[in-house]
Amino acid sequence: MKNQRKYLFPNVIELNLQAGRPLGVNIYLIDGGSEYVLLDIGQDDTLDEVIDLIRQLDFPLSKCKMVIATHADADHVQALAQARERLKTKTAAHPKAAALIESGEVVETYAQITAQNFSIPMPVCKIDVRLKDGDVIEVGNLKLTVWSTPGHTPGQLSFKLRNLLFSGDNIYKDTCVGVIDAHHGSNIPDYITSLKRILADDAEFLLPSHGPAFRKDPAVLQPAIDRLTKYQYMADFGTCAVSWPLQEQWEKDILAGKMPDL
Ligand SMILES: [Zn+2]
Repeated sequence: MKNQRKYLFPNVIELNLQAGRPLGVNIYLIDGGSEYVLLDIGQDDTLDEVIDLIRQLDFPLSKCKMVIATHADADHVQALAQARERLKTKTAAHPKAAALIESGEVVETYAQITAQNFSIPMPVCKIDVRLKDGDVIEVGNLKLTVWSTPGHTPGQLSFKLRNLLFSGDNIYKDTCVGVIDAHHGSNIPDYITSLKRILADDAEFLLPSHGPAFRKDPAVLQPAIDRLTKYQYMADFGTCAVSWPLQEQWEKDILAGKMPDL
């Protein structure tokens, strides 16, 4: 069965949109003509459908140059090991994501959240290519530039293609950012740096790993930067905070014998 390709932008297909049904995390197929890459692959239970879809779109499995992990979260890469086998392709990730994927780490990848009785398998997968900031991935006649954008996780990558930035879990259309959690390796100052880099860049469209692609707009990015700037000095994400002025003042007041202003 053949299927009409639905290009979101020239050379870019998003497989949830293409399938016409939510599969999970966004999976971008970047079509370089003679070959293609996949950005993220999702979970094991949707891999059959993803592979069927790729076949129906007339992309030979043998032309998949690599499957690239935006980061190591289980919802993005649980199916990586199976995909590497079945597509006979290479895998690529940031070194810090690669270490988690190659060891099948379950806490930092959110495969296991004990307090919520949540647990899914995190199959170990070899990562063939380590990606770092500034690397260029050639896909047919396209060039995809790798950005290291830590914050959500230390190994979070983004990818620039012409005026498009595949922005991973950095920022979504509603100004939300990816989860901030110390057990996940989140770092708020790094996160702010990554968001500012995205804001300053000349990319016109952001293609996130969750939710719709959208036009890059300071009205989306600046509120997130402002929020995270405050979080650095608030207890809300305390294990990721830089300092907590209220506690510092409280300790000074205790030492000074100062009673609370009521
Ligand atoms: Zn995610």
